[in-house]
Parts: sequence; structure tokens; C-alpha cells
Amino acid sequence: MKFNTKTIHGGQKHEETTGSVMPPVFLTSTFAQSSPGQHKGYAYARGTNPTRTALEANFAALENGTHAFAFASGMAAIDAVLRLLKPGDEVIAGDDLYGGTYRMFTQLFQKYGLEFSFVNMNKVANVTNAITSKTKLVWIETPTNPLMKIANIHKITTNVKEENSEILIAVDNTFATPYLQKPLDLGADIVMHSATKYLGGHSDLVMGALMVKEETLAKEIHFIQFAAGAIAGPMDSFLALRGVKTLHVRMQRHCENGLKVARFLETHSKVGKVYYPGLKSHESYEIAKKQMTAFGGMVSFKLKDESKEATFSFLESTKLFTLAESLGGVESLVNHPVTMSHGSIPEEERLKIGITESLIRLSVGIEDVEDLLADLEQALNA
Ligand SMILES: *Cc1c(COP(=O)(O)O)cnc(C)c1O
Repeated sequence: MKFNTKTIHGGQKHEETTGSVMPPVFLTSTFAQSSPGQHKGYAYARGTNPTRTALEANFAALENGTHAFAFASGMAAIDAVLRLLKPGDEVIAGDDLYGGTYRMFTQLFQKYGLEFSFVNMNKVANVTNAITSKTKLVWIETPTNPLMKIANIHKITTNVKEENSEILIAVDNTFATPYLQKPLDLGADIVMHSATKYLGGHSDLVMGALMVKEETLAKEIHFIQFAAGAIAGPMDSFLALRGVKTLHVRMQRHCENGLKVARFLETHSKVGKVYYPGLKSHESYEIAKKQMTAFGGMVSFKLKDESKEATFSFLESTKLFTLAESLGGVESLVNHPVTMSHGSIPEEERLKIGITESLIRLSVGIEDVEDLLADLEQALNA
């Protein structure tokens, strides 16, 4: 099956008793057994629920994995990956990460004895140079949130595995989605998604996912999902499955609109730097072009006038772009990383990499792009 067919049919079968084309929402916590331990593959819904199973089969197919696991949130999915490690283990992570990921690493898991080093992953050597005998996991986000940095997944994976084949490579694929890049095909062991964003696509649920291609790792993650219990519920699973069926159509438009918005901003007299991997001015344009099939709908930028007044005036003036956290839905959103998505990163750390108060992040939706450009134009002149 081609990708555009998999979003709809991947891992799906009609429901057996009625032929229902969509899986029913199995609002049940438990399943009847004919004799102790004798059941139809479902015993208790924390372990497995048929609606979640249908979604997970689709998610696995989309990333070319063999298994997928749906969690209560993206953060719960990341939490499950870190539970594969033990005190004393080290993690190498990108220096530009979703704020919640940084918060979980530094404020939650450091407390339990995990060590983290943060490096700029736009250079592969920065990753391999950080490897020690205790390194157990490399955490890659590409494109990064919010600076749109690109990491070369295949090169990092190859070089890290050459040093030590037991180091796990996990990729947060939330921004790109499997429509643009498939990390498991590029050598990664684990793909993570905030399905809250593009996979769900309609800003109506919070969910996380992990996809893997290897049996032992799948068993370990399933154990963690079952034992710790941060599962996705049946109603959310149904909504995510409904949403993901249009992923390819939505992404195509997100990418078209994203590129047009980035080009519009780049040539606008009031705009300073634009961060979008599809612009030739982007530091990693060539890697992005090779690694991704297009460049997505996330665009960050700064105004030439970097004052708080000018930045806030823009943020308060857009009409179609709603000022809100989150991204990846059909509707366009504008976000102020410093006060919103990245508020938990200490000022000193965020300034080091360029997350200033003047940074603005757009999630370009799938509306008519002329309306979007007109909205940006009026807000830039407000
Ligand atoms: C939103 C987000 C997360 C966290 O996911 P939640 O579903 O909000 O828990 C992780 N990584 C990235 C890149 C995100 O954008």
C-alpha cells in the first residue's frame, strides 16, 4: 500500500459482528472470560481496548513500524521511553526541544538519576562527541520546536550505532509527520508523536504515540504502557483514527501554505529572520530537501522591530491566526514561545539558542492561503 492509502486502510478491518466500516468506540473496562484466563484477546482495557488496537495498527503502518502504542498525551509517550532507562544512564538530546520535553528531562527525570546533555544536532559530530560509556539514548527532534533546526536522522543513527549499536535512537516526529519523513526507515529505533497535533489534526484531543519495528523493544514498551497505565482512551482513539485518515490531504495543503507564508514573510519589509527549512536561506536546506518530501506547515519568524510592543501588537492583531498554544490542526494558530510553549525553559538557556521575546511561531492551517496572507499583512501593519 502507498502512504496515501495507508492513512485510510492501514491495519484496518471491518468490525466482525456488523461489518461496521469504522471501529465502534468500545466504552468498556473489562471483557467476559469463559474460563479463568480464557478470553478473546481482550481482558482488561488498560492492557488492550479494541478501538485503541485499531488506531495503533494504523499508526504502526504509517511509520512503517510493526507495533504502535497510543498514550494519554505526547508527554506520556516520552515518559514511557525514558522508563526504558535506569539511574545512571545518559541521554543526548537536541538543544532546541519542545518546552515540555525539556521540562520533563531536567525537572522530572534528572531527579531519578538520569543525566542529560543538550547539543546542537545540526552537526552530526556534536552528537557523536557527546557519547560516553553511559549513553543509552539519543533524543532527536527534527524540525525542532520552535527554531526549525534540522538534524540528519540517517547520519546521526549510522554514526551513533557505529560507536555503540546498543544506544537507542528516538525521534520526535511531531512536526514532520510520516507524510514528510519516516525515521524508522532512516535507522531510528523509536518514533514518538504528539498525536494532539498533525496526526489528530483537528485540535479536539490530546494524545501521544510511540512506533517501533523491533519485537523486544515493542514488548518492553507494551509492558510500560500496561504497567504505568497512561493509555489513550477509546473516544480519543476513535477521534484520532478519524482524523488521521485525511493526514496526507491535510499535509499537502499545510506544506503548500507553509511555503507560501514563509516566502511572503521573507520578502516583507517589516520582517527580520524567518525560520523555515523550505527556504534556501535556511542553514540546513539541503539536508531538509533530501530527508523530507516537503517542509511542513510550521514557520517561525522575528519582526525587524524586535521590541516587545511590536511583537505583542502583531500577536494581538491577527484575526484568522488564533493566538493559542498547540499546532497541527486544520486552523491557523500563532504562538509566542517565550510566554507559551517554551515558558518552562530558563531565560539563560533559551537566549543561548535564540529563543528571544521577539520570536513568533505560526502553525499554518489549510485555509485559503490568500486569506492567510491578507491576515498577516494587516497584522504586520497594525
Ligand atoms: C506538543 C508537543 C509535545 C507534547 O505533546 P502533548 O500531546 O502536548 O503532551 C512533544 N513534542 C512536540 C514537538 C510537541 O509539539
